[in-house]
Amino acid sequence: MKPEESFVRHKPCGDRIVFALVLDRRKMKERIMAGKASQIFLGLNGNLDAELLCDVTRLLGTFLIDFENDMQGDWNKFGIMPLYNALHVNRWKQPEMEQQAGDFLREKYATLDPVRQYAAVRVWNEYLNTREYRERDAASEQCVNRVGGLTAAFQSPVFQNRDQVLFDEDTGRARRFELSADFFKQVSMEDTKIELWYPGRENSQTECAVVYDSFYPMIAYYANRLADWGLKFCKCKVCGKIFLAESLRYEICSEKCRKAQALQNKREFDARARENNYDLLYKNECQSWRNKIKRAERTEGFPADRLLKMLEVFETFKKVALQKKKLIREHKMLPQEFMDWLYQQSSVIMGLVEDSQKR
Ligand SMILES: [Zn+2]
Repeated sequence: MKPEESFVRHKPCGDRIVFALVLDRRKMKERIMAGKASQIFLGLNGNLDAELLCDVTRLLGTFLIDFENDMQGDWNKFGIMPLYNALHVNRWKQPEMEQQAGDFLREKYATLDPVRQYAAVRVWNEYLNTREYRERDAASEQCVNRVGGLTAAFQSPVFQNRDQVLFDEDTGRARRFELSADFFKQVSMEDTKIELWYPGRENSQTECAVVYDSFYPMIAYYANRLADWGLKFCKCKVCGKIFLAESLRYEICSEKCRKAQALQNKREFDARARENNYDLLYKNECQSWRNKIKRAERTEGFPADRLLKMLEVFETFKKVALQKKKLIREHKMLPQEFMDWLYQQSSVIMGLVEDSQKR
């Protein structure tokens, strides 16, 4: 099965193509495989030659966190209905409809998300299978029901409000899912089945959950495992992404966000440092006043009334400056305004000194 060729007309795959999941609590990983059952068995036993549609190992929880959400029903509109119509029109019109659906499914496949990849290949393969039947009308209904059941989970409200449904937002604890709950009321008995495989030769611990026509039982299986393990969903305080962790201590989802956070901290520090500059400027200004007053005191013949005036102005300056600094701390004044004022004040004392020199 070559996925690149999947969305054009070819001989259908007659075997069951299944979606398989292995959860690794210890490594906090999930492995998802899709393909023929026999190939998945090979893959689970470490055979690198297994021909799989996809085989990805990701962080635990990703399946639930990234699960396809399609409230507009695009899968139905652009993926399934054109193929259903193609089964009912004359053969000259078929290629156009196949192309439309093929383009949609290829795009979904190209995202490399295993859920989308599996659904895209299954939809196409069901179509190809249905084309083989003589009694196309009956077969086409069955085809639509089947792939409609598979993509139905994409329209589940679970994945529209996943923050509230997957976990308790206060505690972060994963929630158990019951297939009888509101979200799953539409699910037929047939679509609640899940298989558990224990394929391990070397490592008999491996438990592989497998579904075929419905994602619903996989969602329930996954959510219940996480809840049983007491794992917690956290929201990254940098990017807002949800991720799974052993405890709520983890506030940042990835190395990338950790770096972004460090950069942000540095920026905030620099901004604070810049704001504190006005204080330094004020202290320098005071020192400059004191120096000038001292020099005046030491200067022979410096007019006493001028000196008194300088001391007076300096006291007023300090008093006003303290008031303004308080305003800045209360965010009622910008540090820049204060610095501009300091700058103006420095010319006041210069004026007093120079006045006395003119005499
Ligand atoms: Zn993040």
